Amino acid sequence: DDRKPKNFIYELIDKDNESNRFQKKVHTRFPPEPNGYLHIGHAKAICLNYGIAKDYNGKFNLRFDDTNPEKEDQEYVDSIIEDVKWLGADFENRIFYASDYFEKMYEYAVQLIKKGKAYVCDLSADEIRDTRGTLTEPGKESPFRNRTIEENLDLFERMRKGEFPNGSKTLRAKIDMASPNFNLRDPIMYRIIHAEHHRQGNKWCIYPTYDWAHGLEDSIEGITHSICTLEFENHRPLYDWFLDELAIYHPQQIEFARLNLSYTVMSKRKLLQLVKEKYVDGWDDPRMPTISGFRRRGYTPESIRNFADIIGVAKRDALTDISLLEFAIRDDLNKHAKRVMCVLDPLKIVLTNVNEEEELEAINNPEDPNAGTRKIKFTKEIFIERNDFMENPPKGFHRLVPGGEVRLRYAYIIKCDEVIKNENGEIVELHCSIDPDTKSGVGKSNKKVKGTIHWVSAKYNIDAEVHLYDRLFTIENPGAEENWLNFINPNSFQVVKNAKLELSLKDANVGENYQFERLGYFCVDSKYSNKENLVFNRTVTLKDSWKQ
Ligand code: ATP
Ligand code: MG
Ligand code: MG
Repeated sequence: DDRKPKNFIYELIDKDNESNRFQKKVHTRFPPEPNGYLHIGHAKAICLNYGIAKDYNGKFNLRFDDTNPEKEDQEYVDSIIEDVKWLGADFENRIFYASDYFEKMYEYAVQLIKKGKAYVCDLSADEIRDTRGTLTEPGKESPFRNRTIEENLDLFERMRKGEFPNGSKTLRAKIDMASPNFNLRDPIMYRIIHAEHHRQGNKWCIYPTYDWAHGLEDSIEGITHSICTLEFENHRPLYDWFLDELAIYHPQQIEFARLNLSYTVMSKRKLLQLVKEKYVDGWDDPRMPTISGFRRRGYTPESIRNFADIIGVAKRDALTDISLLEFAIRDDLNKHAKRVMCVLDPLKIVLTNVNEEEELEAINNPEDPNAGTRKIKFTKEIFIERNDFMENPPKGFHRLVPGGEVRLRYAYIIKCDEVIKNENGEIVELHCSIDPDTKSGVGKSNKKVKGTIHWVSAKYNIDAEVHLYDRLFTIENPGAEENWLNFINPNSFQVVKNAKLELSLKDANVGENYQFERLGYFCVDSKYSNKENLVFNRTVTLKDSWKQ
């Protein structure tokens, strides 16, 4: 076929297919540890792995790498399943749990012990680290390195049975304490952890390390290409060593650059801290870079998939500009979001020469002729945005000024005749008159004005609360700072209490996206909105608001 490889991983897979290495099968997986909610970096990995499986007519597994009982939880498992489904990565019931392989992994470890390739070590974690050596010095061999196979088998079995306390023993691979690759200097395979596992309960008190477990998980599931992030590149020799020593089915590990996004942090540890210390309103706070946060914010799965496509796959780490993600969501919503009118900061206008109510026709989406039109009520009293009027405007202000004219979207050109103030000198309302010959689309007049503004009928509208968001951090790369919490943007969340929405939004549902004309894209907040108190989230501002 004449398909062009999408990135270097496709090229590697094409080569494997040519040489018939995996019988032309392609089988990928996404292997999250259920110790937090998924973030946009995980979304990239999901799109990549699922996309490859789909493009090669292969298979895609969702696998929980649940090998660390202390940090994992069923809540995270549930959220991950929901998020992967929402993104559209169809794993067709192919859900697996690494903890289901613990027995098998144990047997493999026994095999290595029997081969003289693994030993029980009584050094503490600190002692092991301290005897690892340096770049120039080889590591020091453990005094327990030459235990007999019989002794190792006995001790390992007793580790499993729970005879020893946490940290008192490990099982280590016997490789090479002088290897230039630190990962090969007798790495730990098992630690003793007496803790309840969210799935296995108290069945186990020895837990496999990532390096020992991961290749086995891939091998057991028949994964062909095990795609992971760059920091595992120098773990690959160990991945290969274990599988070669066991002489079992051997997938290919391939590394790519992880996604880092500007103005946010992406490590689960940091995200957990933001949640626990209540800097944000949970994992799905709309400012969080989590999939659930983006969902609540109004991002669509399409926009995130498109973003993953746009940024591509690289071999070098970089910081991706968050504006690329904003571009992706605007691009999608521009095509699909229904246009409506909403006033965030209402200023009342009395239209002195309007005495009858009128129904006007409004276009639902100029980008989509099939979206049709709707009726909106035009009444004697309306609201406009307070900042669309200025008593002493600067040059170039094309909206409403005393004695000046502006067009009301879908309605008429109006003129400001009188500014009404209270005793404190604050503007309370404007008295304006319409030019009846300027009705949108049908008016007889050729009159042109520079500005068009949105409005809502003061008689027919609904009240809503609107949440406006900005970037969570004030600097591009907060993750690089020791005191990263000092860079949280204090103005990243703003509540607008008394917004006025056009009536058509009465039945707005969670999951629908709207463009509030000139203000941005918005959605119903899935956490706080209800029939009595509608709450909308701003997904993103408009790049280009139409001429003001
Ligand atoms: P974190 O560093 O945020 O804790 P992690 O790598 O420990 O993430 P896992 O649950 O182990 O989290 O990740 C599951 C998969 O997602 C891994 O294959 C990992 O390579 C991939 N992944 C994690 N973070 C990113 C990222 N920022 N960009 C791309 N892929 C990622
Ligand atoms: Mg990990
Ligand atoms: Mg991690």
